[in-house]
Amino acid sequence: MEIILHGTGAGTPSGNRGASAATFGFDSGDILLIDAGEGCSRAIIRDGRNLHKITTVVLSHMHADHWTGLPNLVMAWIIGRRETPVDLYLPPRSLHFFRSVLSNSWMLQKPLPFELRMSELQPLLLSEEWSLRPFRTSHLDKFMGSEEADLLSFPSFGFVLESGERKILFSQDIGSEQDLEVELLGTELLICESAHVNLSHVVESARNAGVSRLIFTHVSPERERAFEEIIVDSGGLDWSVAEDGLIIPL
Ligand SMILES: [Zn+2]
Repeated sequence: MEIILHGTGAGTPSGNRGASAATFGFDSGDILLIDAGEGCSRAIIRDGRNLHKITTVVLSHMHADHWTGLPNLVMAWIIGRRETPVDLYLPPRSLHFFRSVLSNSWMLQKPLPFELRMSELQPLLLSEEWSLRPFRTSHLDKFMGSEEADLLSFPSFGFVLESGERKILFSQDIGSEQDLEVELLGTELLICESAHVNLSHVVESARNAGVSRLIFTHVSPERERAFEEIIVDSGGLDWSVAEDGLIIPL
């Protein structure tokens, strides 16, 4: 399995970092896309992946930097006369919205050349070896109890990928590093957003949990220099900051 981080930026547009998008390529050739931020199709092609090999798309939540590349990706599949089915696993209560977006973009008026299956986020079997499990994060909890939270898509999710003893924790947008605590144990690789966390605390808790590798992503322009302030002893933990196009072999 090979992970590529195509977009390592956050909500603020940046000249050198794209919006959130990561692919997971399996031995079967199937590709999972987690989040589809603005410009994800172009970034995926730039990094050498074939858009038509994407079989599953999973979205963590409805902030625009995590989904606005999806309509363009679907258009690429239609224009490219894709024939194989695609599964979109979308945040709670967002299916109607996405049907409307695709329809209003003139994509659903004629039968598609492929089957586009839309479901709500759920645990998935990705390959013979790997499974995916969404876990709730507190990223949108400031809206909890509001009228909007009852009507719009709520809450947000991070993802755990597991294969036997192997565990990858992909934070996506969280409320704070505390969202990860319960999942850290047994994690081999932590891919952690850096916009809503105390960076030193993340390094510390990953080290204490015995995580081997920590990669920071979702870097906003304002926080590019913040990594210099991480002064905690990282012990045996290998931590780094991702750039767009980073390949992580597993
Ligand atoms: Zn967000």
